[in-house]
Amino acid sequence: MSRSSDPRTYDLDSLRDRVVSEAGGAVDDSIPQLADADPGLCGIALVLPDGTVRSSAQADVLFSVQSAVKPFLFALALLDTHGEAFDRIGIEPTGEAFDAIKLESGTGRPPNPMVNAGALLTAALVDGDDVAARNDRILRGLSAFAGRPLEVDEGIARTEHLLGDRNHALAHLMRSEGTLRVSADDAVEVYARACAVLVDARALAVMGATLACRGVNPVTGERVVPAGIARDVVSVMATCGVYDGSGRWMQSVGIPAKSSVSGAIVLAAPGRLGAAVVSPPLDAQGTSVRGRLVSDRLSVDLGLHAFG
Ligand code: GLN
Repeated sequence: MSRSSDPRTYDLDSLRDRVVSEAGGAVDDSIPQLADADPGLCGIALVLPDGTVRSSAQADVLFSVQSAVKPFLFALALLDTHGEAFDRIGIEPTGEAFDAIKLESGTGRPPNPMVNAGALLTAALVDGDDVAARNDRILRGLSAFAGRPLEVDEGIARTEHLLGDRNHALAHLMRSEGTLRVSADDAVEVYARACAVLVDARALAVMGATLACRGVNPVTGERVVPAGIARDVVSVMATCGVYDGSGRWMQSVGIPAKSSVSGAIVLAAPGRLGAAVVSPPLDAQGTSVRGRLVSDRLSVDLGLHAFG
């Protein structure tokens, strides 16, 4: 059996150099701001339980978090509803794309919190009497996960709210089933704004590390969510985090993760580390092509596969 490298000295820039020449995949073009992303961008960061942050070149380039926000919205919804979110959302993988117009048959619940239907609902379940209060609570919660104040790209938030036709359709469908209890438009607005939060690979890696460290941010020392919630969220990342590629991901990479259309992947290896990669070109399942290569390499080189 080969010996794993030490994450403290592992050379993230040479890993970056090895994957950056990979030219496969296509940048998402669902909104102009995403279509404009630099296809050559590649940033990598990892955060250890003692709070050490390590990063490659371009780990400080900001991008909109997009679906990588979903595990954290789920965590905040579980916290604010005292676990009731578990009754309102399924946790089974769908084997379908992130924006499939489909709810659980029989219950009308969203299938899981890692697809759009589920994230529209988790965002609506976060505490707050109105849209502004929920937006504020989400931004504060995400900032606690990241260990620094995060900001929203207002242009992206507005565009996604206006152009997110499938998200509006999903919200209306959940209204008709009685599973969504705020207005469809409010649900899309709050979710779109959460997707438009700006992070860099370093901040996203700290967010992943907070889940990997039983809900305590290893950089600030703040307990952001109880250990049980961190465990629940990481479990659902493992089964549903890479959409219809989740089975293959766990078999090959073996680290609970969440992918996103901006090309980010956040990883949480419990007790070991949190990590993030961003590189915009995506494969057919919406996973960053270079992000997958980096995750594969980290898994092998640092011995991070959950099943050895
Ligand atoms: N904001 C995007 C959407 O809802 C996020 C999707 C994603 O990253 N897969 O369409």
